[in-house]
Amino acid sequence: MLLPLPLDGAYDYLVPDDTNVKPGDFVTVPLGPRLLTGVVWGEGSADVDEGRLKPIAEILPARPMPSDLRQLVDWVASYTLSPPGSVLRMAMRVPDALLPARPVTGWRITEAGQLTLEKAEGLTGARRRVLEILVDGAAYPAAELARLGACGTGVVKGLAEKGMIGSVEIPARLPPPIPDWRVQGPILSPNQETAAEALVDKVRQGGFGVTLLDGVTGSGKTEVYFAAIAAALEQGRQVLVLLPEIALSGQWLQRFSRRFGVGPVEWHSDLSHTERRAAWRAVAEGQAQVVVGARSALFLPFPDLGLIVVDEEHDQSFKQEEGVIYHARDMAVVRASLLKRPIVLVSATPSLETLQNVEQGRYECLHLPARHGEAQLPTIRLVDMRREKPERQKFISPPLVAALTETLAAGEQAMLFLNRRGYAPLTLCRTCGHRMQCPNCTAWLVEHRFLGTLQCHHCGHAERIPKACPSCEDEGSFAACGPGVERLAEEVALRFPEARVAVMASDTMIGPRAIGELVRGVEDHAIDLLIGTQVMAKGHHFPMLTLVGVVDADLGLAGGDLRAAERTYQLLHQVAGRAGREERPGIVLLQTFMPEHPVMQALVQGGRDRFLAAEAEGRQHHGMPPFGRLAAIIISGPDDDSADFTARAFARSSPQMPGIDVLGPAPAPLAILRGRHRRRFLVKAKKTINLQAVLRDWLKRVKTPNSVRVQVDIDPYSFL
Ligand code: ADP
Ligand code: ZN
Repeated sequence: MLLPLPLDGAYDYLVPDDTNVKPGDFVTVPLGPRLLTGVVWGEGSADVDEGRLKPIAEILPARPMPSDLRQLVDWVASYTLSPPGSVLRMAMRVPDALLPARPVTGWRITEAGQLTLEKAEGLTGARRRVLEILVDGAAYPAAELARLGACGTGVVKGLAEKGMIGSVEIPARLPPPIPDWRVQGPILSPNQETAAEALVDKVRQGGFGVTLLDGVTGSGKTEVYFAAIAAALEQGRQVLVLLPEIALSGQWLQRFSRRFGVGPVEWHSDLSHTERRAAWRAVAEGQAQVVVGARSALFLPFPDLGLIVVDEEHDQSFKQEEGVIYHARDMAVVRASLLKRPIVLVSATPSLETLQNVEQGRYECLHLPARHGEAQLPTIRLVDMRREKPERQKFISPPLVAALTETLAAGEQAMLFLNRRGYAPLTLCRTCGHRMQCPNCTAWLVEHRFLGTLQCHHCGHAERIPKACPSCEDEGSFAACGPGVERLAEEVALRFPEARVAVMASDTMIGPRAIGELVRGVEDHAIDLLIGTQVMAKGHHFPMLTLVGVVDADLGLAGGDLRAAERTYQLLHQVAGRAGREERPGIVLLQTFMPEHPVMQALVQGGRDRFLAAEAEGRQHHGMPPFGRLAAIIISGPDDDSADFTARAFARSSPQMPGIDVLGPAPAPLAILRGRHRRRFLVKAKKTINLQAVLRDWLKRVKTPNSVRVQVDIDPYSFL
C-alpha cells in the first residue's frame, strides 16, 4: 500500500479473506486514528507478523491505477530522490474523483402528461411550457427545467404531484465530447506531408520512440502533429499534449476545435474543483480522448495512452521547482518508454539536451525548414545601444522609434518586448542612496506604479510605496531605476499618443479570460502596439504584426547561469517569431549593449546550428549537461547559523571519488528567500556515475536538525 504522504515507502496491510485486491486498486486504510486513501502497490513483505497488521477498510469503486503510471511514480521518486508517496500525491490530486459522482434527480414526462398535453386541457401557460420542453422524452433536473420554462420550481412540483412528470436518475456528468479524427486537415506541403507521415507511421506501429519535430516558427509544426493525434484517435487511443502555459493557449484550443470539431479536455491550475474532478474521472475511464495540460497532466491515469506530444519542449516552465522537483518533458519520455508508445517533442529552438539525444541517435528528428506558404522569416537587426542612445530616462532608441513610426503609419501592428513586470526594477533614494529591499529575500523591490505598490517577485511580498525614505526620511526623494513594461507604456503614450496600446504581463492579465480578450483585441486590430513580457512570446499568431522591438536583449545574459545564452537565444528567437507570420514581411530590432555576443550574432545571421554547436562545445569542455550530470543541494534554515551548521556537516561528509566534483557550500544567489537562509552545493558528475546513489548515500550520512530543510534538485535549471 502506498499512501500519498512523504513516508519512506509502502506500508503493509492485511487483506480480509473474502476480498480480492490487485495492484493499482484504490483502497482506504487506517493510519493511526485516520482513514486514508492509497494505492495497492504490491504483495507486501512476508516478514511482518500478520497478527499485527491492520486490515484495509474499503476498496473504492474506481478503475485501478494503470501499471505504467505506478511504474512512473516509482521511477520519478527514485530519479528525483523524493518519497514515492509525494510523487503518488501528484497522481491523486482529486481524491473525491475516486468515488462515482452522485446521480441527480431528473424529471421526465409521463403518459398522463403526454395525454394532457395533447388534449391541452386545464393547463396554465407555465405548465404547458414545461411539458413541451419534455415532450421529446429528455429528462432535466428541476432547477434546469424551471430555467428553461421561465417559471418557478413550484410549477415542476405541481406537475409532479399531478403525475404528469415522473422522476428518473440521470448521470451527474456527461462524458466529454469525442473529437472527430475523420475531418480533413489542411492540405500539407510536401515537407509537412513527409513529417506527418513519419509520425503517423510511428503511432500506427506503436512501440516506444522519441521524435523531435524541429521546425522554424510558423512552419506548421502544429498541423503536422495534429495528423499524428488523428492517427492515435483512429486507433481508439488517448492522447496527451503538454503545453508550457496552458492558460495562455487560447489560440491553440481554438485551432484544435476547428480541426477536430470539439475542444480537448483541459488540465491546469485554473480549473474549478468540479472541472478537475470531472476531467480526472473522464481520463481514468478512458472517455477523455485528448487531454491538453500543463506538466501535472503527466500524472493522470490514462488507461490507454497512444501518443504524447510535448510542444515547446525547450520551455523551462516544464521544470517544476517546488515539492517534487522534476522536468515534465524528461518524465514524459520516461512514461512513453514505460508504455511503449511514441512521443513527439516539438520546438523551433530545441534544447541542447534534446539535440544531443538526436546526435547520439537516441531520438529521431524531423525538419520543417521554412515557414508555411508565402510567409518569410523576419529580418533581425541589432541596435547598438552604445551608439544609438535613447534620450535621458527613456529606453527606446532612435532607430526603434523610427521603425515604430513607420509601422504604425502603414496601419500595421508592433510589439515591444521587455521581460520585466512592473514600472521599475529598482527604487532608490536620491538623497541617501537607500535601496528598497524585500524584508524576506535578498532582492530589490519592484515598483508597480499602476497598483501603487512595491513588490518582491520572489516571495510575493507587497507594500504601499512609502511617502518618505525609510532611511533618511526625506520625502519625494525616490528615483526609479531601469524600465519595466509599465514604464515603457508611459514612454510609448508620450511618443505615440494616437496609438492604441495594451500591456500584457502576467500581473496585469488576470486569468486566461483576460488574456483571451487581449489576444482577440490584437487579432481584430483593436490594438496597434502591444507591450509584453514573456507571456507574449509564446505561440501567438497575429497576421498584422510586422515589427517586434526587443527593448533589452541582454537581460537574460546576466547572472552567468549555465543555460543563460541558450535560454536567451530561445526566448529572443521565439519573440522574433511573432513578426511577419503571413504575407507582410516582419522586422525585428534587438537593442543590445553586446552586439558582438554570440547569441546576438546567431540571431542576426540565422546561425542557430553553429551557435548551438559552440554552446555544446563549451559545455562539453566543462563537463556540464548534457555531457555531464549535475545536481544541486539546497540547504535552508531559519537563520544563518543553522544553515551554515548543516552546510558544514554536509561538506565534511561530501563524496570523495573520481568523476565527482562537489562545489560549495556557498550562499545561494538568493541568499535569503521567504525568510529562509540558503546555502547551495553543486554536484558535478561524469555521465557514467550513478549520481542518485552517491547523493542518497551522502544524505544518509548527515543528520539535519528539524528546522533545516534539504532539497535535492537533479538536473537543475535554476541556480538562484
Ligand atoms: P508552428 O506550430 O510551426 O509555429 P503553425 O502550425 O502554427 O506553425 O502554422 C503557422 C500558420 O500557418 C498557422 O496559421 C497555420 O494554420 C498555417 N498553416 C500551416 N500549415 C498549413 C497548411 N498546410 N495549409 C494551410 N495553412 C497552414
Ligand atoms: Zn521577497
